[in-house]
Amino acid sequence: MKCLFINPPVYDFSAYDLWSKPLGFLKIIDLFKKNGFEIFYFDFLDRNHEFYKNIKVKKGKYGCGNYFYKEVEKPQIYKNVPRKYKRFGLPTNIFLDFLKNIGGLDFIFITTGMTYWVLGVREVINIIKQLYPKVPIIVGGIYTSFCYEDAQNLKANYIFKGKDILKFSYEFSSIFNIDIKMPERIEPFWNVYKKLDYLVIKTSSGCPFSCWYCGIKQIEGVYKKRDVEEVVEEIIKNVEKFKIEDIAFYDDALFFNFEEHLYRILEKITKNTKNLRFHTPNGIHPKFIKKEVSFILKETNFKTIRLSLETINDKRNKESDNKVNFNEFEMCVRNLVDAGFRKEEIGVYILAGLPNQKPEEVIKTINILKNYPLKIKIAEYSPIPGTVDFEIAKNLYPELPISDPLFQNNSIYPLWNFKNKWEIINQIKQMIKS
Ligand code: SF4
Repeated sequence: MKCLFINPPVYDFSAYDLWSKPLGFLKIIDLFKKNGFEIFYFDFLDRNHEFYKNIKVKKGKYGCGNYFYKEVEKPQIYKNVPRKYKRFGLPTNIFLDFLKNIGGLDFIFITTGMTYWVLGVREVINIIKQLYPKVPIIVGGIYTSFCYEDAQNLKANYIFKGKDILKFSYEFSSIFNIDIKMPERIEPFWNVYKKLDYLVIKTSSGCPFSCWYCGIKQIEGVYKKRDVEEVVEEIIKNVEKFKIEDIAFYDDALFFNFEEHLYRILEKITKNTKNLRFHTPNGIHPKFIKKEVSFILKETNFKTIRLSLETINDKRNKESDNKVNFNEFEMCVRNLVDAGFRKEEIGVYILAGLPNQKPEEVIKTINILKNYPLKIKIAEYSPIPGTVDFEIAKNLYPELPISDPLFQNNSIYPLWNFKNKWEIINQIKQMIKS
């Protein structure tokens, strides 16, 4: 049987390939591959596609870079946003050419990213429906997990909620009357790519913390570490195959129980590979970066460290499950600097636009952080359905359409609804640049 898997284009104000790959989707592909299906894959966000050979697009460091994009008309909901709206990813004609060569299909799978990227999913479904009106369409991923009701409007044959592959295999088998067996091991099926600029890896699932704004518990309810040997094997195999130099960790609590987990993984990888660089694009918990840990990170060649501070507001810190207090944060920065990390390598995320959060709180946090050798990164708040903060926001701002996935776009600071909003946002952006 033949299956087509599609990672759709992105409609947004900005998008950048910061070690971005659909890891969960690649595991679903592995499931079908191991069940004997013939696999076809089209990733609209693949920057190594031949199309990029003929166009000029800026490349960043460590395998990251810009996507090809075209400006498109803004949906009504964004009419007052003073920014250009774009479609990022390979043009439709490239996709249509690809489809010409694959013939008939039995199933089509589409993954989804951010809830507010739904326009790219709709675009793909419209094309598919015209060309393959009888082929079942299966849609899963972040958007369908958080906006399950809204996703019913996609007119797909099966919408999957969550990340549990075992549950997915049962449901799929029963809906389509096909026996999908769970293999002993599922791993991302990287072979769908001809070339990779980096590898992404998750050494655990879930998170032991419960922050009010975060939706992790809804999709990965239990915090679980993967087997160390299995992680190491997955890394080494793909590093050799794709000549990888950069590895980005997708874990949400990478340094939790460091000695028993990440340390053992790093020890084994660095013994068996050379010149790898490591990156932590998801914010890491400063309290776990003790002196010894920071020296190990330097020795093992971590190049991008992103710390989660989020705010200096004590009350709000409690809402972040007391993930970090300012003393722990200061200590962490000192440890990293002592180990030899430079300002350019240490970033700190602070949240902006939380329910009931005034810009003054963000500005105050920035002013304090400017005294430290690190780069400040604004993490714009996006209301995620099903979270504590989402419910708070719904009550605080009944006039805002926050259940509309497009309105959940973090670039529009959805909960900031005051007159000179864009002036203040630009002021904040300038502050972190200078
Ligand atoms: S620590 Fe991070 S992943 Fe864990 S609950 Fe908080 S925000 Fe979510």
